[in-house]
Amino acid sequence: MNVVLIASEAVPFAKTGGLADVAGALPRALAQIGIHATLFIPCYRHARDSGIPLRNTGIKLKIPRGSSGTVEVQIQASTLPGTDVPVYLIDRPAYFDRPALYQENGADYGDNCERFIIFQRAALEAIRALGMRPDVIHCNDWQTGLIPIYLDEFYRGTPELAAAGSLFTVHNMAYQGSFWHWDMPLTGLDWRLFNWRQLEFHGRINFLKAGLVFSDLLSTVSPTYSREIQTPEYGCGFDGLLRARRHDLHGIVNGIDPTVWNPRVDRLISSTFDAASVGTGKAVCKRAIQERAGLPQRPDVPLFAQIGRLDSQKGWDLLMEVADELLQGDVQFVVLGEGHPRYHDLLNQLAQRHPEKLRVFLEFSNPLSHQIEAGADIFLMPSLYEPCGLNQLYSLTYGTIPIVRQTGGLADTVVDATPEALANGTATGFSFRDIHAGALRYAIHRALELWADRPGWSKLVHNAMKADWTWDRAARSYLGLYNEICRRRTGRAAV
Ligand code: ADP
Repeated sequence: MNVVLIASEAVPFAKTGGLADVAGALPRALAQIGIHATLFIPCYRHARDSGIPLRNTGIKLKIPRGSSGTVEVQIQASTLPGTDVPVYLIDRPAYFDRPALYQENGADYGDNCERFIIFQRAALEAIRALGMRPDVIHCNDWQTGLIPIYLDEFYRGTPELAAAGSLFTVHNMAYQGSFWHWDMPLTGLDWRLFNWRQLEFHGRINFLKAGLVFSDLLSTVSPTYSREIQTPEYGCGFDGLLRARRHDLHGIVNGIDPTVWNPRVDRLISSTFDAASVGTGKAVCKRAIQERAGLPQRPDVPLFAQIGRLDSQKGWDLLMEVADELLQGDVQFVVLGEGHPRYHDLLNQLAQRHPEKLRVFLEFSNPLSHQIEAGADIFLMPSLYEPCGLNQLYSLTYGTIPIVRQTGGLADTVVDATPEALANGTATGFSFRDIHAGALRYAIHRALELWADRPGWSKLVHNAMKADWTWDRAARSYLGLYNEICRRRTGRAAV
């Protein structure tokens, strides 16, 4: 089975969010179960600065730029560190040698449409130039949404891509790649495709829609999110389309990398620990983060944490409603994040009101994110929607009890501590349903009640740490989808 994954970011080359974690880890996990996986990403400045060696393949390709000539791209090669999984980087400095991936100072790059059209066509041309014959092309998010239609319109007559099937994975429906209709000629596609059943959405070209309409199979990053996006509340305008394709739509929860997010081996934290030593190990890590945060070093006080983009998606408005009341109790709270200036201001004001209890780090810091996960007791993640979510998985692994809203991947990965779930040992956290401060407040109240019952809390921590979130499970589920795609295309599975 030959699978080509195409994504707009991948760890450790370039990252803005969870997509990069997936694109960096899934090919490795696929290789471990015998799939020949190859990854294509843009050659951003970050990839050049990452310190990972890049090799110029010498391949130069002329990619059509609509009806106005061609642009030349080169193909750099590398491997995912620690593996022999090939990575090819589409190199055109004018598009990708920039300070950021998609936007600066909150404004998208004006040529994102062109950048990612050329990226997609260049990836397909590079597959041909490299003589690859993928069984499946695994596309991710809007930046790769045109690939299934390009395969059908331009490549069915080529030996390399005649039989290639496509899987389109949506990591977040809210990001769509919506561009004005006069960019249609840039795509190189015929205007006949610009209609409400295909590429057009509210008068604009929509790359996400292209992926949803034309790929052989669709997936999202959790079963619950795959059902939610079939409703008007979560479907971002595509619920009808997704209901029509519901038999082709699957949900697979992401894994986490056990060499990176693992309290047994984590070199970024003050003391490693496992389930047997979590009591002493976490106490050391808690003291360390309290010291770093300038908070009183008290082992007895519950330490709350939140790490992530400061965006309304993550439930910050709910958190702000309950924060003052929470901080009036005997608790501590550490926040790590950057994002919307409105939340920067609100958090700074909150920290001024509660200097002894709250510390806010308005930055992006990987070491700090590990240290907070290891030292905190409770992780707050009341997201309005959450396709998969990674921080609750890190929290479970580090024995940091998550309080989550029951949505998307949060609903699929956190088992609410009901009396029954506590009694039968399946409880791993606290969850609530309604987007309402009262519901969050009650979940926090339940958590604090159990915190006071030390043996009960310790049992919950052990339950949380037991679950296995490695990529192997997800990779096997993706293999099932790849086989289904091959069966549909050729009448037989590839392995
Ligand atoms: P999303 O992709 O919606 O941002 P996820 O939970 O799926 O959310 O993934 C976010 C990733 O980015 C996680 O690996 C998280 O630890 C990391 N992250 C987000 N904000 C920060 C930050 N300020 N510092 C360090 N890591 C961060």
